[in-house]
Amino acid sequence: MIKLVKPYIKFRDVKNDFKTIFKSGNFTKGIFVEEFRKKLLDFTGAKFCHLTTSATTALSISLKALGIKEGDEVLISDFSFPATANVVEDLGAIPVFVDVSLDSFNMLPDDLEKKIGPNSKAVIFVDAFGNPSGINKIAKICKENNIPLIEDAACAVGSSTYNKKVGNIADITCFSFHPRKVITTGEGGAITFNSAKLNTFFSVKLNHGAIFEDGKFDFIDFGYNYRLPDLQAVMGSKQLNKIDIIIKSRKLIRDKYIKDLLPLGFKPQFIDNESISNFQSIVFLVPNGILRDDLIKKLREKKIESTIGTYCLSGLSYYKGKYNSVQKNASFLGMNTITLPCFDGVNVRSITSQITKIMLSLGVT
Ligand SMILES: *Cc1c(COP(=O)(O)O)cnc(C)c1O
Repeated sequence: MIKLVKPYIKFRDVKNDFKTIFKSGNFTKGIFVEEFRKKLLDFTGAKFCHLTTSATTALSISLKALGIKEGDEVLISDFSFPATANVVEDLGAIPVFVDVSLDSFNMLPDDLEKKIGPNSKAVIFVDAFGNPSGINKIAKICKENNIPLIEDAACAVGSSTYNKKVGNIADITCFSFHPRKVITTGEGGAITFNSAKLNTFFSVKLNHGAIFEDGKFDFIDFGYNYRLPDLQAVMGSKQLNKIDIIIKSRKLIRDKYIKDLLPLGFKPQFIDNESISNFQSIVFLVPNGILRDDLIKKLREKKIESTIGTYCLSGLSYYKGKYNSVQKNASFLGMNTITLPCFDGVNVRSITSQITKIMLSLGVT
């Protein structure tokens, strides 16, 4: 089976540091957590960074940092992983689904402006599959309306736009290090931002509500433990060291796919000229007349793993039932996009030639 992804890390890369951790017994809040955190700061250019257990916990605590509460409206990109909406729903706040571009798959500025109202308290922009295209326009709208912007950059570590790294664009950025992302720590995440005030909030809330002063803890608030442990941080550091090489190789793979699949009528995700995507997923719109799910099934029969692009959040059973506000483009993309295998050493030609055969067998082209 050709798998969808393979991590950019081997056991030998982490062996020595793992030994150090086992020897010292410092499995949490140790030097490797600090090292990974500092590397993320250096890399993104953000002033502050906290590591978390996932992007979901990062997003959740970020909404709390902004004071989002019951009845508040949070405008979100509608083409994403369900966590983007779930964290809003979890607080009793109302997710307002903003439709996305059929080209970039990212939030549409016009639709955002239309949906901003007196109860809008935050915007969550999603870098679809790592693509930050268009976030500057969204950030401008947020600023004009005095609404904080959270970037769900779960997929976008290493991406950039207008020479600014993702992590240093929105008011708060949340990353994921799940195995489906470009860098993986198994489970894991991070929050980056530039506000010292937010830093106080996160420092306390992410550490059980405590501050450490005069050699002891004082619990000045209630809080949580969403900390990433040291073994995981080692994994993150090793991959972040070579992120630019990883991204370059993913771009080459994508270019090969485009060369072979464009003539068949597949449409790649659009990345604008000012942006660099990390290509967390290589996603295409399938040609007219092709049922995406049939293609996934037939590829599986040929021992090639593929999957959907991602979800139309407003169309998920729960959200459709509760809000009945299905967005047109996101719904179309949810049904007609496919993710193809991308990892070091993948034989693109063997996949695209199978796709060509399948297209012929389905009577298309
Ligand atoms: C993967 C993903 C998440 C969830 O990340 P976890 O680290 O698994 O919590 C959230 N948002 C988007 C856009 C994602 O792709």
